[in-house]
Amino acid sequence: MDEWFTQSLSDSDPAVFEAIGNERRRQEAINLIASESLTSQAVREASGCVMTNKYAEGYPGKRYYGGCEYVDVVEELAIERAKKLFSAEHVNVQPHSGTQANLAVYLAMLKPGDTILSMELSHGGHLSHGYKINESGKLYNGEFYNVSKQTGRIDPAEVLARAREVEPKMIVCGYSAYPRKVPFKEFREIADAVDAYLMADIAHIAGLVAAGVHPSPIDYADFVTTTTHKTLMGPRGAMIMCREEYAKDIDRAVFPGCQGGPFMQQIAAKAVCFKENLAKERRELNQQVADNAKALAEELLGYDFNLVSGGTDNHLMLADLSNKNITGKDAEKALGESGITLNKNTVPYDTQSPFVTSGIRIGTPCVTARGMKQPQMKQIADMINEAVTTPSAETINKVRDRACDLTSQFPVYV
Ligand SMILES: *Cc1c(COP(=O)(O)O)cnc(C)c1O
Repeated sequence: MDEWFTQSLSDSDPAVFEAIGNERRRQEAINLIASESLTSQAVREASGCVMTNKYAEGYPGKRYYGGCEYVDVVEELAIERAKKLFSAEHVNVQPHSGTQANLAVYLAMLKPGDTILSMELSHGGHLSHGYKINESGKLYNGEFYNVSKQTGRIDPAEVLARAREVEPKMIVCGYSAYPRKVPFKEFREIADAVDAYLMADIAHIAGLVAAGVHPSPIDYADFVTTTTHKTLMGPRGAMIMCREEYAKDIDRAVFPGCQGGPFMQQIAAKAVCFKENLAKERRELNQQVADNAKALAEELLGYDFNLVSGGTDNHLMLADLSNKNITGKDAEKALGESGITLNKNTVPYDTQSPFVTSGIRIGTPCVTARGMKQPQMKQIADMINEAVTTPSAETINKVRDRACDLTSQFPVYV
């Protein structure tokens, strides 16, 4: 065999090897990006395994390729574990991403031009929920509901009124930047009232749902989609859950509808991730994710931060910085230089452009996975307050020293 096949990465490609090493070190910063998490060594081993060499179009036992006996084992394990984790009747673990999972559901159930009703993007929705710049908004007619201006929360009566107005074929609940519990039962009633399908996209909260920290949509939604790389703390990828009656349509929409060969190395890693999430320790960790978010929110409120809806029930919060004299964009930059990674975010009814924004989104999965608890949340809130209130070079240097001190006590990689 040519030596390219047997060399280690450091020998064969120093440029890529170096970038990966730098990324590893970068990840030691305080990471408050709400959509990210940390994977276990086991998940990364599976996701980097030889199953990447395998074509397996089709489903376990019904493949279009030979030699699928072992990839069938991991896909069956992934499916069985996911069913158990979410009490789902049917699961498809092949979608490459959350966006792709959502597209597959629409493809299975809708006709071009049908109406999808989902949350306004700037209020916490996701591109794949019918926005014009995504295929879902080109093939289908996207209509949107808002959060209430007074409370920052979803008002089911407002959503019902909007649903009666636009007569959707599909209603989507589940968000990228919504800090409160999603009222799945109310959404079911709204969907029934207008005879629409209900899809719950739990990409952000799936780990909390699996742990019983957030209510589950499984008894209410016709379709539940999720990524596996957010609070589930698994590999990049996604899955779709539904009742048996829709199983065939959903499976056909994923393959051959909008994907070819499944990524078997990722499916192996999803199986590992589901096993981890079934364990008591992971359920406790996800409870701590929410407890940490609550603690961080309390501290920030104490520093006069204006949190959308006044706090959080899950793993994230949105701070509206209008009263702090700084935009989301500038806050993201100042915090980044201070050793705290997070993202700027629109807040509901934002007056700034999506590139500037008035807010920041703050999430606790990563810091919790590395072992931080309430006392560290107190320190982080104080650092955020310092950097955002006085983003001078002097303050930023001081905060960065404190951030380094904290992270060195909670290493990600040893
Ligand atoms: C992150 C997210 C997705 C999908 O993500 P991909 O980047 O396509 O994997 C879908 N829906 C919601 C609500 C999300 O937050």
